[in-house]
Amino acid sequence: MRESMFTRVKTVQALRPVGAIILLSWLLVVPAGGALAAVEAGGARSGSGTTLIRAGRLLDVETGEITENIGILIEGGRIQAVGASVDAPRGARVIDLEGLTVLPGLIDSHSHICLTPDYQRRNPVLYKTHPYRALEALKGAQRNLMAGFTTLRDLDNEGADMADIAVRDAVREGMFRGPRLVVSGWAITITGGHMNLTGLRPSVDRRLDQLAILADSPEAMVAAIRDQQKSGVDFIKIYATGPTQLINPETFEPLMQLSTAEVRLMVDEAARWGMDVAAHAYGGEGAHNAVNGGVRSIEHGMMLDDETLDLMAKRGTFWVPTMTVYLPGEDTSADEVPLLDRIVERHRKTFVRAMQKGVRIAFGTDVGSIPHGDGWRELERMADYGMPAIDVIRSATLAGAALLRRQDELGRIAPGYLADIIAVAGDPTRDIKAFRNVPFVMVDGKVMKRRR
Ligand SMILES: [Zn+2]
Repeated sequence: MRESMFTRVKTVQALRPVGAIILLSWLLVVPAGGALAAVEAGGARSGSGTTLIRAGRLLDVETGEITENIGILIEGGRIQAVGASVDAPRGARVIDLEGLTVLPGLIDSHSHICLTPDYQRRNPVLYKTHPYRALEALKGAQRNLMAGFTTLRDLDNEGADMADIAVRDAVREGMFRGPRLVVSGWAITITGGHMNLTGLRPSVDRRLDQLAILADSPEAMVAAIRDQQKSGVDFIKIYATGPTQLINPETFEPLMQLSTAEVRLMVDEAARWGMDVAAHAYGGEGAHNAVNGGVRSIEHGMMLDDETLDLMAKRGTFWVPTMTVYLPGEDTSADEVPLLDRIVERHRKTFVRAMQKGVRIAFGTDVGSIPHGDGWRELERMADYGMPAIDVIRSATLAGAALLRRQDELGRIAPGYLADIIAVAGDPTRDIKAFRNVPFVMVDGKVMKRRR
């Protein structure tokens, strides 16, 4: 997430209850019945029986080619066959998508289901209970699903206890519709660093839930990873650089939070449990240490320098840029705008250099900081910054799957792959705006959304 007042509560005013806004939030949680009509109800998570999708056009995200009138045969949540001659066996359910372009479900490699964009005004650890945040998380996850994101890699629940794990498991067990969730629980930071509330009276601070685990010694870092593993996270998130307020305005160098040795220690400990480590890092020495220490991905990275980008390309470290979230928005205070403008321009230049250097770029939005369901904005931003539309789509399918080490079952429409499938009108390789409206979404062979 992009921090602002969230991590720096400075005034008593920020602690004042805002009943009207709480009531409004409740109203917004009520499901919009029409949007979810015509989908499969709860029950088993994987689609049962045999389904044939008749795709008017099918986009092969590897080759970039679109073929017409293709059958996709699905059984037990997995794709069995794909081709022009594939037809429906007797008794199969047929889904007619003849007017649409069918492609793999999108993977958002950086989401925050436990956040809503009002966090800058209403810090959730001050105003919201954990159960309420879990309900919000489910709602947010569903909004992203309806926008075509069938997998979310969720980066830090930010003090919502284990709401991300709860939502992942409830969806997995078929209690609710939702995307495939890969979650990181509580992230790990240092005292006074990114995602640690500062400016509070110490006696107030001590009573609050922390937004991230504070780990200031090698022992504490290892213990934090074991604690997260025991709670059931899928991967570990660490904060390798400090908040935007601590960026040196002259040199643009962010606060370095972790040494290479500390990152390596955490990467090795996580690996013992079969987990990868994602590092939030803006650039400078902190980002370099994270890559050097062996993290799987750098998140945000707007000030990554050539040396670090080269090292990432060499090591195969993924970059999840999340560029839209740094645009000044309605909640941005006037004194923040000049710094954000500089960050946005630096981010764009870093993105162009990363493409040239062949860094593996995985698509990520930071939704939660921007509204859930608005992931299309980042797709368009990457295209605006010069990435060909097919490569933007690859970053949200093939690269996202590779980042999760699940490239053999996610991110493609091919035999053996999980049936996570979406459809859009028009040709998304020619017009990335096609993703503003996603009329069909399937996860695990189950129809999650179908608008005629
Ligand atoms: Zn984030």
